[in-house]
Amino acid sequence: MKVLVINCGSSSLKYQVLDMSNESLLAKGLVERIGIEGSVLKHEKTNVEEKFIQETPMNDHKDAIENVMEALKDPVYGVVKSMDEIGAVGHRVVHAGEKYAHSVMIDADVIAALEECIPLAPLHNPPNLLGIAACQALMPNTPQVGVFDTAFHQTMPPESYTYAIPYEYYEKYGIRRYGFHGTSHKYVAERAAFMLAANLEDLKLITCHLGNGASVSAIKRGKCIDTSMGFTPLAGLVMGTRSGNVDPGIISFIADKEGITGDEVLEILNKRSGMLGLTGISSDFRDIAEAIEDGNERAALALNVFAHRVRFFIGAYIAEMNGVDAIIFTAGVGENDVNVRDIICSELGNLGIKLDLIKNKVRGKETIISRDDSKVSILLIPTNEELMIARDTYALVK
Ligand code: AMP
Repeated sequence: MKVLVINCGSSSLKYQVLDMSNESLLAKGLVERIGIEGSVLKHEKTNVEEKFIQETPMNDHKDAIENVMEALKDPVYGVVKSMDEIGAVGHRVVHAGEKYAHSVMIDADVIAALEECIPLAPLHNPPNLLGIAACQALMPNTPQVGVFDTAFHQTMPPESYTYAIPYEYYEKYGIRRYGFHGTSHKYVAERAAFMLAANLEDLKLITCHLGNGASVSAIKRGKCIDTSMGFTPLAGLVMGTRSGNVDPGIISFIADKEGITGDEVLEILNKRSGMLGLTGISSDFRDIAEAIEDGNERAALALNVFAHRVRFFIGAYIAEMNGVDAIIFTAGVGENDVNVRDIICSELGNLGIKLDLIKNKVRGKETIISRDDSKVSILLIPTNEELMIARDTYALVK
């Protein structure tokens, strides 16, 4: 069966087509500037070097998906003769609240539940729902599956997801920790068990998803028991442009001093903080590494703040799980930044965590990077959220 995976943002749409008989990627692409002047579709067929690029007005997500369908059927760049060959569509949906701990077939009840979650993810769920509606309209006979970023974290126990604020806010508004990047954490945990030739149910894992957005999860016996993101994806680690955890008192203090609203402070914490805010240069770790080489002290400080926070969560999760068998690095920074992995893992030898500095000199490859005498395995695993979405979709539809 061929599965189409769709990930809709407010003005963008990423997609992949996978052949689930061997889990191979057939084609992938990106539509940008949906509803904005200059809409463009960039499509790539596996093993065809030249990209197919189409610039044409796309007013909404339905227009975008219509163009994707044409690209998928193109005689040169396409991968199907007719859309009937697509057995199912898997949609990445950010927030399913407490409703779904697993992926589900989308029906009217699921859509209603995801609409109810819009206040929890006002930027993400609306475009996700637009993508679902467009696919339903254009492929009415093709099953649609929802795969949720929050689902994997639904196994967290109440003591880790409950905020110590008046309990009525949880009951009235659903204010609790939800966690995000769940599809990625789940994927790398499963791969880790495979690489260690162990049962996921026998392992204690700490998965570090370090990309532009970043989160750490504690996974005990295959279940997430804690994760660093919270009610929103602003919490936890220092990120590209997000602050991660700060003292909540800072918000009204900055608002007072700067004469701005609480919402404006939140915008600063989301978009102008993190590595960008600290360095004043860039949110991209490659730029930051260059600045450090040029002797930029703030860039060096930013990297140390970032690593300190990751180490802080690793230590906390070792305590929560009473040990750890493996630490996994994934996503843009975790997969590629040799130096960041080195800084994070340094000084953890007494906890049995010993990075092999030679094996660590690797990028974007599934491999073990701990020393042979390290009690805890350290793994580098490139994430693959699309494959995970396609697997869940195939499993439900099959
Ligand atoms: P992601 O959100 O997972 O796509 O990660 C994107 C981030 O990964 C970028 O903003 C960079 O900071 C980082 N990144 C990507 N490639 C490299 C690299 N070769 N070295 C260091 N950092 C990288």
